[in-house]
Amino acid sequence: MREPSFHLLEDAGLGPEQPGDRALAFPCRNAPVEVLLVRAADVPEYVQDGVVDCGITGIDLVRERRADVHELVRLGFGSCRLEAAVPEESDARTLEDLAGRSVATVYPGLTRRLLPVPVTLVDVTGSVEIAPRLGLAEAIVDLVSSGNTLRTNGLRSLGVLLESEAVLVARDSEQAAPFAGMLRAVVDARRHRYLMLNAPEAALDAIADLVAPRVPSVLPLAEPGMVAVHALVPAADVWRLLPQLEAVGGSSILVVPVERMAS
Ligand code: AMP
Repeated sequence: MREPSFHLLEDAGLGPEQPGDRALAFPCRNAPVEVLLVRAADVPEYVQDGVVDCGITGIDLVRERRADVHELVRLGFGSCRLEAAVPEESDARTLEDLAGRSVATVYPGLTRRLLPVPVTLVDVTGSVEIAPRLGLAEAIVDLVSSGNTLRTNGLRSLGVLLESEAVLVARDSEQAAPFAGMLRAVVDARRHRYLMLNAPEAALDAIADLVAPRVPSVLPLAEPGMVAVHALVPAADVWRLLPQLEAVGGSSILVVPVERMAS
């Protein structure tokens, strides 16, 4: 999470100093913010105990430790799922089928709380995926991103226990609100694009429908009967919107990134 966290601070305008390879702390040029680099697993405790004011870590780690912190902003990177999986040849088909079986995991707390049935936990500290092959457990609960590691180890997912990603946490949400707002403005902006196009006035209703629920800005053009339309749209929708906007008469279409989105 180190790299994407650094880029987030950079995009938020804080001006983090590039830390050396062995640096464990670095300051920011533009704001009175000192950044400490610690293991993601230690962040929930550091924040809970007031060692630092805010932390960036995975939702999975915050929930596993039941840290007494507020999850303020989901940051849009480090996405993964906590999944239960069994060897391909297992007769288990659903999470309920794990009842009474042995499950290896580095997430004993979440596994116990999120599995719908009681199981025998086998605590391991890593390489969870090989536990069934070693005869240590009948199933595993582990983080999955692409699913490649599961497949490589001959495992089949039974279901998702938790969706996780990087999150900004704080002990005092009011004190952290301005900082959280700065990061949220960047995270929200990254998920959107600013769309500009020209169109005949007659196409306005169709265009407004396409970019709904946001209301577009409409500006007159020097050419009679033509208008410029500007709208903020989800980045993930752009590929679908462009041909549709062309089809209803849109032309000179520009899609530009957004730097900040603040209310
Ligand atoms: P994949 O093969 O892409 O499903 O990745 C699975 C492996 O990467 C597992 O060993 C996970 O523990 C680890 N992993 C994937 N995503 C994350 C994440 N966001 N945070 C920490 N570990 C992860």
